[in-house]
This record gives sequence, C-alpha cells and structure tokens, in this order.
Amino acid sequence: MVLETGIQYLPGVGPKRAQLLQSELGVATVGDLIRLYPFRYIDRSSIVRIADVHPDLAQVQVRATVLKVRLYAKNGAELPPDQLKYNMVNRLSALVADDSGEMEMVFFKGVKWMHSRLVPGSTFIFFGKPSVFNNRLNMVHPEVDAPDSGTTGVLTGVYPSTEKLKNAGITGKVMLKLVGTALQEILPVLQETLPDYVLREKGLVPLTYALRQIHFPTDQDALAKASYRLKFEELFLLQLSLLKQKYVRSHNTVGLNMPAVGEAFNACYHALPYELTGAQKRVIREIREDMRSGHQMNRLLQGDVGSGKTMVAVLSALIAVGNGYQACLMAPTEVLANQHFANVSKYLKPTGVRVALLTGSTGVKDRREIHAGLQDGSIGVLIGTHALIEDTVQFKALGLAIVDEQHRFGVDQRARLWNKGWQGVPPHVLVMTATPIPRTLAMTLYGDLDVSVIDEMPPGRKPVTTLCVGEEKRHAMHNFIRDEIAKGRQAFIVYPLIFESEKLDYKNLELGYEEIVRTFPLPDYKVAIVHGQQTSQEKAFNMDAFVAGRAHILVSTTVIEVGVDVPNASVMVIESAERFGLSQLHQLRGRVGRGAERSYCILMHGTKVSKESRKRLDLLCATENGFELAEEDMKMRGPGDLEGTQQSGLPISLNIASLAKDGLILSDARGYAQHILELDPTLEKPGNAVLAAELRKDKYVSKDYSQIS
Ligand code: ADP
Ligand code: MG
Repeated sequence: MVLETGIQYLPGVGPKRAQLLQSELGVATVGDLIRLYPFRYIDRSSIVRIADVHPDLAQVQVRATVLKVRLYAKNGAELPPDQLKYNMVNRLSALVADDSGEMEMVFFKGVKWMHSRLVPGSTFIFFGKPSVFNNRLNMVHPEVDAPDSGTTGVLTGVYPSTEKLKNAGITGKVMLKLVGTALQEILPVLQETLPDYVLREKGLVPLTYALRQIHFPTDQDALAKASYRLKFEELFLLQLSLLKQKYVRSHNTVGLNMPAVGEAFNACYHALPYELTGAQKRVIREIREDMRSGHQMNRLLQGDVGSGKTMVAVLSALIAVGNGYQACLMAPTEVLANQHFANVSKYLKPTGVRVALLTGSTGVKDRREIHAGLQDGSIGVLIGTHALIEDTVQFKALGLAIVDEQHRFGVDQRARLWNKGWQGVPPHVLVMTATPIPRTLAMTLYGDLDVSVIDEMPPGRKPVTTLCVGEEKRHAMHNFIRDEIAKGRQAFIVYPLIFESEKLDYKNLELGYEEIVRTFPLPDYKVAIVHGQQTSQEKAFNMDAFVAGRAHILVSTTVIEVGVDVPNASVMVIESAERFGLSQLHQLRGRVGRGAERSYCILMHGTKVSKESRKRLDLLCATENGFELAEEDMKMRGPGDLEGTQQSGLPISLNIASLAKDGLILSDARGYAQHILELDPTLEKPGNAVLAAELRKDKYVSKDYSQIS
C-alpha cells in the first residue's frame, strides 16, 4: 500500500464508505487519510464523579454501576423487562450510579445489544456528552467500555465528521481504527519530506513519529512536538511552492527594460516640497531595481494611510516616462481619481510631462483628445478610474500600470491591464494598498509577489485621539465640533452604508444630515454632503466645497474612505461605528491628523453593541498602528475573513497551521524555503527530489497566482 492507494482498498472501507469519505471529507487516498488530523483531543485519562457532572461540560467519562434498566415504547409506556420483541422498543434507559450520585444512560438504537450488556450490578466506563432531560442528568448514546478495557491512549483524537458519515457507521471510533490501519501500512514505507539539515537545525521530529503522535498521542508533550513539526512542514511546503512560482514567473516573463532614471524624475525630485522619508526612498530604490532588471515587475506596495504612497507612484511613473514609456494610475473611485489628478499635476509641473484624467464623466470631446494623446505618446501619465482599462483606450507604449487600493478591482480587470503592454510585453505592475495586511498573510496571499512596505510616516503627521462616545453625549459631540470650527478647523461626519440595508442607511444619512444642518445653521456654518446616489457633478461640487474650505462639515457615506486629503480637517465623527469593520474604521481615521495640531476621531455607537464590536472599538482607541490592528483583527476573526483581502480563500487550505497564530513558524519556514531555492531554484538537484515531488501534488499545481495583480 502506498500514499496514492485509493481509500476503498484500505481494509474496513470498501467502495460505499470510500465514496462518503471522499465527498464528506475530501479523503480519496490513504495518504489523504493520514493527513486528516484530529481537530481536538479528548482527555480520557480522568474519570469524573457523577456528582461533578454538569450539562455544560463537554464530553466526560464516568465509572458507574448499572442499577436498573427500563424499556419504553414509542407512546412512552414502559414495556416488561423481559421484552423480546425489540422492534416495539423505542428507548432504553439505564439508571447508573457511582458512590457520589446517579444518572441515566439513554439509547434509541442498538437497544437489543445494550440490553444484553447492561446487566444490573455490572460496572462500565460511560463516555459521552452530559445533558439534562426532564430535570434528570443523562447521556444519550454514550460509548460503553468495560472498566478494564484500557482506553486507546491517554488522548483520543476527534476527527471531523458529518451526519452522513455517522449514519454510514463511520463513527469516531471507526475513524481511529481506519487511521490506525493506514498508519500501520504506510509508516514503514513513508519518506521524510523535510531535508535532513532542517530537521536537525530546527529540532523537528521525523515525519513518521509526527504522524503517529498526531493521531495517537502518548502524552501532551509528544503531541506538541508532532503538531509543531507538521505545522512547520505545511508552511514550509506552501512557501516553497509560492516562491518557486515567483522564480519561474520572473525568469520567464520578459519585462520592459528601463535602465535610466531620466530627467523628469530628477526635475520632480528636486522640486519636492519635502524630503522623502527613508521608507519612501527605500521603496523607490526597490522599484527602480525591478524596472531595470529585464523582468516584469509585479510588486505590492503596502503602506498605512498617509504614509505617502502617492509620491512613490509619481516617481515610479516618471521612471517609465524617462525611458520613453507611458504610465497609468488607476483609482477605485472618481473622487479619488480627481484628487490624484490634482496632486500629480502639481508634482509634474516642473517636469513638463503631460498628464490627463479619464473617468466615466469625461466628456466625448475630451475623451477623443485623450485617446489621441495616448496614441501619439504626447500624454505621459494617465490617471483615471476603471474607465482607463476600456478597450478603446490604447497607449503608444504603456510601461507601468499602477493600481491604487487594489482590493476593489476584480481579477479580470487587472488582466486587461496586463494586455495593454507594449508589443505584447506586459507593463510593469505596481499595486498599492492602504489596507495593512499582516506580514504572515501577505507572505501567503502574495507569496509570489514582491512586497514593499512603507513602514514610516512622513514627519508632521499628528497623533489622532480616538474616543468611543455613546448616544447620551451627542450634544457634547456637537459642541466639540463647534469649538473646532471656531478654531478654523473642519469636520467629517461619516455614516455607514451597508449594502443589505441600503434604504434604511440612506434614511439615517438623510436624518443625520438634517440634524446637522439644524444644529449648524447658515449663515455661520456651511454643511456639504456626499453620497453614492448623487451624480458625479454633485459629488465633485460638494467635495470641492469641503476641500477648498468653503464648507465646515462634510456629511458623507464611506465614499471618502480612501485617499481624500483635507489637511485642515481635525475631526472625524463615525456614526454607528460598531457597524464598520476594523480596517475600514482605521482608514477613515487616517483622513484626519494630516495638518492640524491635534485631531480627533469620535466613534459614535448605539446602546446595543456586541462584545465583538466593543472589542474592535476599544482596540481602535488603543492603537494607531495599522499593522498592529490588522494582526489583532486577524486573531479575532481568522484570516479568511480579513477585510481588504478579497481573496479570502487562501492559495491552499491549511490542515494544521494557522496564519493568525503561527506567524513565527511561517517566517522561519519561509527562510528555509528561500535558502533552498537560492541554491537550486528549480529543485532539480537529487537532494531536493522529495521536495520537487511534493510540489507536483495537486494542491500546489493548478494554482497560478502570478497574475494576481
Ligand atoms: P497615502 O499613502 O495614504 O496615499 P499620501 O500619498 O496621500 O498617502 O500622502 C499623505 C500626505 O503626506 C500628503 O499630503 C503628502 O503630500 C504628504 N507627504 C508624502 N510624503 C511626504 C514626506 N516625505 N514628507 C512630508 N509629507 C509627505
Ligand atoms: Mg492614497
């Protein structure tokens, strides 16, 4: 028997069970079965006194003597104890006792067999989940073992299961038996997957030991060692496969070669009103190296809100321009595209590079002009929304595509960008995201991309004081805004807009707006409003009023979430803050603290806030560091749910490791994977044959994430 042997050939399985194991648990081969680990363990080393049994407890075992057995019919009538027609019996109830108390054991199935076993006066170990029925402590269908049978080990593994499996008789006990048989067959011929020196350096237990212990642990310590080894192995192989793909991609995809820095870059650089931060400089160097490597750049740029990603984008675009290519910058919303256009135009003034804006509301005439300018190459940088990936938009020589806030774009949209390259060569791609993705997740989700991180804020960024405020202090909040406006500041007030309750949300927004207008009346105060149901002209008009300082307060839905820069704003009020996700709240907060001496983020919340939401709000008050928040968020919710990572499905599913908890093991494992690939990038050396074979398995092939951006 080998790992690839079909599960139906394992003694005790057969075709029918095999089919269920496959459809219910994804177990198709013997190898799959031994890699299906218990998700928890029952400690059967201790016996609980009946007096201490409580319905809140998970599974327990008691050692008790049978006092009396009763049989009941469907209608509840008790049947004579010498009942021989078992088909009339609906339920068997055994009253059992130890020296501390009594309880009931109930069986609906296998009654005849139990009736013959549970002879009054005999003692058994009963193992099951306690509950209460008719005010009486009981266990339904406990496992019944002779007191001297000696359980399967101190810790018993519990495997994932379903109703269908149980109905087919594949109980926990049966699973243990099947796994036991499989191990017996496989372990003697099993090959170690990890290189010797890794095992030695990391002090990892061998695979055979790990597999035996993960299924049948002898004690907690052995289980911990097994689990550590298997987590390491899982993360190591995952990283090895991702990094290998990255290597193959970067060596097989030709990239546009951009050796020069160019005059435009230098002109812009020297005219900058500020010094770049160390992190910005480092990231620009990384990008420059990519663009002149001869390979296509596929880089993710992470940086917290306000870390200065736009400047990096501008300078990167100018490298492309300086080498005779064009660049485009795609933003997720029109408001944001407008703002980028305004900023970038300003930065590009000293360079003489022509920049254009293309969005859904660009008029026909302008559009025609832009199309022409892109084709003859006179436009160096194009900024826009997804309008710029339409097929009618043709570049003379697109050399760099920058995507801001990547998670808002679909995969096919990004693929269309790739196809806009020059003479069939895809442009370099730089994806910018302000959603801080924890390192461990980034390594996995984007394991085959290069990741740059701006981990330093520009000087002058002021701390933001964050407060949680209940409804009873709404009046005080209004007064606070009034004081700030008196100091010459401006305020954002943001309402949630959740798709499912859109109608109600607009109602709230409207009511909120009316209240604000009443509280802050003309002519002393001006209030602007921006939301998704406005035309783009209305949106732009209101936005401009706030950006230019003509309006004191901006009431809006989350359209301002990304990017908008109003340094004079010092207050961010978030209504129904409990309804927002952590990273969204953090993004919103990042809109203030950009100019004013002190800024405030006020999280308004209702009276009924769930424990989890409360935790989120408290966390936000406690830290301003986006990466810290993201780590905490992931711990709270698990990585699959993490906001901003639309690819909630990980590249492969993990059997035992957790991205949230095993970050250290992950980076360790990645280091080893990197080292191995440095010496043997295609895993062709004989010493790496086992690894190469592992990576040929289904779960690692057929996934090409290289075009993720
Ligand atoms: P984000 O990363 O959120 O896109 P931006 O690029 O919008 O951040 O930058 C936020 C603000 O910081 C802008 O007003 C920008 O002009 C300013 N800024 C960027 N880099 C620096 C720097 N090195 N020094 C000072 N201010 C900077
Ligand atoms: Mg930005």
